[in-house]
Amino acid sequence: MKKLTVNVDKGYDILIEKGITAHCGEYISKISKAKKVCIISDTNVFPLYGESVKVSLKASGFDVYEYIFTAGESSKKPAEIIKMVEFMAENEFTRSDIAVALGGGVVGDMAGFAAAIYLRGIDFVQIPTSLLAQVDSSVGGKTAVDLPQGKNLCGAFHQPALVVIDPDVLSTLPPHYFSDGMGEVIKYGCIKSASLFDAVQNRDAHEYIEDVIYECVDIKRGVVERDEKEAGERALLNFGHTAGHAIEKLHNFTGISHGEAVGIGMVMISKAGESAGITEPGTADKIASVLKKYNLKTEDENSLSDIISAMAFDKKSTDSGINFIVLSKIGSSFIKPVATAGIKKLFGVEA
Ligand code: NAD
Repeated sequence: MKKLTVNVDKGYDILIEKGITAHCGEYISKISKAKKVCIISDTNVFPLYGESVKVSLKASGFDVYEYIFTAGESSKKPAEIIKMVEFMAENEFTRSDIAVALGGGVVGDMAGFAAAIYLRGIDFVQIPTSLLAQVDSSVGGKTAVDLPQGKNLCGAFHQPALVVIDPDVLSTLPPHYFSDGMGEVIKYGCIKSASLFDAVQNRDAHEYIEDVIYECVDIKRGVVERDEKEAGERALLNFGHTAGHAIEKLHNFTGISHGEAVGIGMVMISKAGESAGITEPGTADKIASVLKKYNLKTEDENSLSDIISAMAFDKKSTDSGINFIVLSKIGSSFIKPVATAGIKKLFGVEA
């Protein structure tokens, strides 16, 4: 088993092992004195892995409850969170009881948010089942739901008590979502690790996915330890996200996935960085080539000026402008604050 520890205020372990889902109860019982466990999962994942998780939790002495909601981003709403916390209240969950998120990033973000607010905070465990959730969203404690005004606008920082990653469950993940997760893997390579970037470019990530997951999670662990609440370095994880979110918004969050949009955003900002002389020439082409390898998009049909306009209301924007994440070269990134008046110029569009 591979193990990492996230040394934040309330530190926690990340366990990575093939087949660990079926033994999760054993590990959860080591970190929790809960009597009751609420498995929170979606309609795709629960039928595949819910039973083995339940069996393992029961074998470890927990009373097991399950809250299953319709799979997909469209469920990621405040109303669904209220139903979750009401479900726990109806079943008399106490502050020492625990929630287990079994699913992709949507399940993890929602179960984490419900755990953050139920009784002003109970523990929760992440069992991420999509590649995106395994390499990124299950670690770091960002939890949220979407509002009509934008994605992830209502949430809380709430670190999990344990993260249990089973690379075997990726065998049932639709290929489209594998590609999506690779968008985040490529992002980690871009911002922090040229060797990870080169490895996924030169080899098929499927062949050594456990190592890929470990390396990404290790990068995220370090960033979160140094900057738990995103006051500085953690913003690097948003590379490609400002343009990516704008693109998702222009598509009304349908027809384009998060990973695809972020991929396009990474190419866009790198091209802009090259033109501005702050990014090594050829970087955008290198990123585009690895994105294509994993069936991700590299450009969007919306015009550059429409994408820039849609960036205006972004969580990362400030009154004076936007903090863009820019690469100096593959594996090395920095934060570049750009005043509102300078944004069009950065992307080569005249104001
Ligand atoms: P998702 O949770 O919707 O999962 C994608 C699809 O795959 C769903 O249909 C799901 O049911 C299915 N699925 C998941 N695991 C499966 C498996 N093993 N076998 C078969 N089907 C499986 O979406 P996602 O791509 O995992 O995550 C996207 C979400 O994560 C977004 O809401 C995004 O905002 C959020 N996110 C959060 C963070 C964070 O730090 N909290 C970071 C990045 C993204």
